[in-house]
Order: sequence, then C-alpha cells, then structure tokens
Amino acid sequence: MNLKDIATPNRTKEILQKYGFSVKKSLGQNFIIDTNILKKIVEAGEITKRTTVIEVGPGIGALTEQLARQAGKVIAVEIDKRLLRVLADTLSPYPNIEIIHADILDVDLSDFYASHLADAEEIVVVANLPYYITTPIILRFLESRLPIDRMVLMMQKEVASRLSAHPSTKAYGSLSIAVQYYMDAEVAFTVPKTVFMPQPNVDSAIIKLSKKENGIIAVEDEQLFFTLTRSAFVQRRKTLWNNLQVAFGKDKEVKEQMAEALETAQIDPGRRGETLSIEEFAKLSNAFSGFDLTKSEN
Ligand code: SAM
Repeated sequence: MNLKDIATPNRTKEILQKYGFSVKKSLGQNFIIDTNILKKIVEAGEITKRTTVIEVGPGIGALTEQLARQAGKVIAVEIDKRLLRVLADTLSPYPNIEIIHADILDVDLSDFYASHLADAEEIVVVANLPYYITTPIILRFLESRLPIDRMVLMMQKEVASRLSAHPSTKAYGSLSIAVQYYMDAEVAFTVPKTVFMPQPNVDSAIIKLSKKENGIIAVEDEQLFFTLTRSAFVQRRKTLWNNLQVAFGKDKEVKEQMAEALETAQIDPGRRGETLSIEEFAKLSNAFSGFDLTKSEN
C-alpha cells in the first residue's frame, strides 16, 4: 500500500481546509510538515512491532501515522474534540491506532496502564508536546513510575537544554534533576521552526529519555530530596550553605545539623548548588533525612 504522508505542506493545508480547521495557539497546535523529521523521531524511539507507543497530542495525525507504520500499537491522547473526526479520516488506513479524547493531565496513568498497557512488551512515549505544558506532562509520566522504556519528546530548544543539562552549566537546575533523577536525558537533534505549520517563534529539539543504566539512585526521602535540590538553586550565585540557610532557617541547632549533614556527605558548604551532581544531592539528602529539617523549612 502506498499511502500519501500527512506531513507535507500541501497535504496539511488540504486537510485543514477540508475540515475548516483553525489552529488554537492556546493548545500549542503547531503541526509538523516534514516527513524526514518525523522519521528521525521514530528512529530515535527505536520503535518495532513489539512496541506500544503512547502519543500525546496527535494533532491531524502526522507523527501518529509514521509511528503506526513501525509500532505494534499506538495509543494517542488528544484534548481537542474538533480533531477527532479529522483523525478518524486521516488515520483510517491504520488499524493499530487508538485515539483517546482526554486532557493528558487529567488521565489517571495507573488506570490507563491497567486498561491499555498491561500486556505491552515495551512502552515508549513519543510526542511533539504542546509547549505550554511540556514540563508538567513529562513529570507526570516520570512520577507515575509506569514501566516506560523510553521517551522521545519534541519541545522548545531552551527547555530541552535545561532538561538534559549537566552540573556546572548555565542550563543545569532543579528541573534537570527532577527529570534525570528518573531517566537519563540527551538531546537527540534540533529542529528548525520552519518545519511547523504555523511556525512557532523559536526552534525546537528532540529529547530522548532512557532508563538509567544503574537504576534510580537510592534516595531515602524523595520529598526531602526534591525540596533540597530546589532550595540549592533559589539563588544560583550564592553558596549551597547560604541557600540552605534561607530554606531551612538560621537557628543554631538547624545550622549544626546542616553542617554535620554536609560533612557526612563530604560536600563543601562553600560550593554552589549548580556544581553538585544528582548523586551528591542524593547523598546530602540521605545525610539530612535523620534530621527532619523539613519542619523548619520557611
Ligand atoms: N503531533 C502533531 C504534530 O506533530 O504535528 C501535533 C503536535 S502539536 C505541537 C500539540 C498537540 O497536543 C495538539 O494536537 C494539541 O491539540 C494537543 N494538546 C494540547 N494540550 C493537550 C492536553 N492537555 N492533552 C492532550 N493533548 C493536548
């Protein structure tokens, strides 16, 4: 079967015209009109017939169809009701696609897993994400602890560099840690804004998140770990010691406990938070966890 790709400028225009569809900026609707980019995304996802793909925001189906050609199954979640009849038409040649009409942020992911993914051999999340909720979507998937094998996600280039940043770089911060705590992150490739209709204001990049080789780092109290990492970056130019005092208080007893924890973790209080690796934050958080410092958090 020789099927015409959706992701060309002419076919996309034709589909939008046929349905009188006007894009909603508020839903981050920028459709891809370049098949080569989509093929590279599918390739980065290492999609095979064993794979069940979860796609967020299929739009008019440009990426969905490329995924369906390689995957065992594609389950795509779209918020915009107007797109349902468009998708029913454009994706009609592919029996292995299921479209779910929902806001991805309202979907209970454990129920979703039980009803759609329990038999999946391999789960890969692939999406050209709506830019206004990139981070909440990623964190929801990560925090859900679903057995996701990989995630290949398009987002604004600047966000991609923050999510994949390493210590002692400008882009490294609590968001890099919030993501890399769960999965390894790398920028797979960048994407010029010219491959979208309508064109966004900035270029994009594809991030690939993979399972951590040595498993998730052992952190005794995750809430404390994330509180700690966020506090360490509140004032980037200040030392870890200064930021921790702002977060946990200047009380003498608290200060003594903090000093002891830093010593146990073998971390110099004069360092800046941005120089600490995730493993070091984990060590520090574990050294703190006996102290119940969260009580004194401002
Ligand atoms: N996948 C298509 C493509 O690459 O051409 C469209 C990508 S477009 C950047 C983002 C898509 O996400 C749109 O179809 C939009 O309607 C959908 N979307 C926006 N917010 C959503 C949400 N909260 N839940 C599910 N889909 C959403």
